[in-house]
Amino acid sequence: MTSADPIALTQRYELGVYARYPVAFVRGEGCRLWDTDGKAYLDLFAGLAVTSLGHAHPAIVQAIQAQAASLLHVSNLYYTLPKARLLELLCTHSFADRAFLSNSGAEANEAALKIARRYGSARAGGRYEIIATHGSFHGRTFATLTATGQEKHRVGFDPLLPGIRLAPFGDVRALAAEITDRTIAIMLEPIQGEGGVVVPGDRFLREVRDLCDRQGLLLILDEVQTGIGRTGKLFAYEHAGIVPDILTLAKALGSGLPIGATLVRADIAGEMGPGSHGSTFGGNPVACAAAVRTLEVLLGEGLLEHCRDVGRYFGDRLRDIAAGVDGARAVRGLGLMWGMELDRPARPIVEACLTEGLVINVTAERVLRFLPPLVISRAEVDEGCAILEQVLKTHLG
Ligand code: PLP
Repeated sequence: MTSADPIALTQRYELGVYARYPVAFVRGEGCRLWDTDGKAYLDLFAGLAVTSLGHAHPAIVQAIQAQAASLLHVSNLYYTLPKARLLELLCTHSFADRAFLSNSGAEANEAALKIARRYGSARAGGRYEIIATHGSFHGRTFATLTATGQEKHRVGFDPLLPGIRLAPFGDVRALAAEITDRTIAIMLEPIQGEGGVVVPGDRFLREVRDLCDRQGLLLILDEVQTGIGRTGKLFAYEHAGIVPDILTLAKALGSGLPIGATLVRADIAGEMGPGSHGSTFGGNPVACAAAVRTLEVLLGEGLLEHCRDVGRYFGDRLRDIAAGVDGARAVRGLGLMWGMELDRPARPIVEACLTEGLVINVTAERVLRFLPPLVISRAEVDEGCAILEQVLKTHLG
């Protein structure tokens, strides 16, 4: 083992929580990545829905460099301009009046749960229970893990947080059946990402919104994966014509720098006074500068329309491929968030694609997941689909 071997060193010293592929990347540009041997890859995964503007987008690089050179960090006891601008952008482009900035999706959701409980405690007779959904993924802190409806992530960590119940996803009656006189909020993803790219449809989201209104519950939408343009709208809730009460973001918001955001309406936010929550790094000037520029590029360059257009094309291509191979069960998605469900574990397909220079992902064991940069061209979609089709035909027949 040499000190320059990232694979050997990581395997030797890191807590073994990741099932990694034997590739170390050194450089990225647009939809391309290069590994330590100089081999090029087409990236249809974007660092798990993070680098939506593509790798090394010049505007993002410039924003980060300029901010790092002028002010890298100050405590949240003081104001900074990048943070102020990001807060303004997030609130003026969404339903929200207030936002809290953190460092990750789990933290954004943790804040959402605390805000809901605080509101229930102060304004709703002490109600505290949250209903989340089976198949969901909300993070790996104790609260967000409790709201994560996938046993494989929870095993061995009991006791989890009291007061979070799970109901089936996509079924409003089942959600309604879980409501008690202690319930304060329903929390869900507009499309379940880690759960297998499960698209419940606009009608379900509208029904959940109605249910929350009738029962006086808060609707918390986790858009950590679906937000910031991934589905072809800035926020996925826009497709359904509803608004949540609390919204969480992370991943693509910082184009690769760690940042999370929890957005809320003024009347709910009012209970969170000084000292009720906080973070040392949350809203760090450099992360905020990256996020401001990300939103400016996303909103200013027709990228949402491009995402809808190239996303439809990608979905059609995936359906064509699935129709021509045995073992492909279904294709689901919206914008540039797609899943192809197989009748068997999907990891060998992902590994074979990697060997052929294509980066894709497996989730929910049998689902191939595609989360390309939103800047992807039709030609790059064709290139990726040609590799995928070849690999699927070789492995599934
Ligand atoms: N919520 C959703 C919908 C996610 O997809 C993820 C991560 O995949 C998270 C929350 C957790 O985000 P993080 O890994 O940044 O804590």
